[in-house]
Amino acid sequence: MLIGVLGVQGDFREHRFMLERLGIPFKIVRTPEELNQVDGLIIAGGESTTMIRIMKRVGLFDYLKEKIKNGLPVYGTCAGMILLAAHVENYPQESLGAIDIHVVRNAYGRQVDSFVESVEVKGLDSPFEAIFIRAPKVVKWKNDVHVLSELEGTPVMLRQDNVLVSSFHPELTGDPRIHDYFVNMVKGA
Ligand code: GLN
Repeated sequence: MLIGVLGVQGDFREHRFMLERLGIPFKIVRTPEELNQVDGLIIAGGESTTMIRIMKRVGLFDYLKEKIKNGLPVYGTCAGMILLAAHVENYPQESLGAIDIHVVRNAYGRQVDSFVESVEVKGLDSPFEAIFIRAPKVVKWKNDVHVLSELEGTPVMLRQDNVLVSSFHPELTGDPRIHDYFVNMVKGA
């Protein structure tokens, strides 16, 4: 099993360190050929607009969309969540349309409004320290999207079939439990 980390922009190195820590084989993915070699893909936080632009340029955008439709497990954190959402409400931007959620970009405020909050996550036996940095807010989600964690009534981690998203950044903590969850998702796929 090989986990891919999309390496076009953003804090993908932190995801890589987390996988290294877990002893999970990984590959940085920047081309369709590299995407073909992995069994699951993590999309990091960063700037979703920039990520889309670069992915289109290298032919990754439509190709990844197709792979996800065919069952490739993916996990998007923050900007990665925006990329995977069905619709971005406050910004005219394309997305991969992989999970039936609507998001609002930067809904938790500016960089200076970043915060850490302890959240309950389904399947974890103790709370997770969630780091939010100019995070997107999920404002709509379909019935078959499972909410795995919420903060003050708003979902912050969700899953629909092979697609996992969180508006926070577990890669910036020392806690590997959510990466472990995704690795198990890939193993079970
Ligand atoms: N604000 C970024 C965006 O809209 C996401 C921020 C992040 O990934 N930390 O793409």
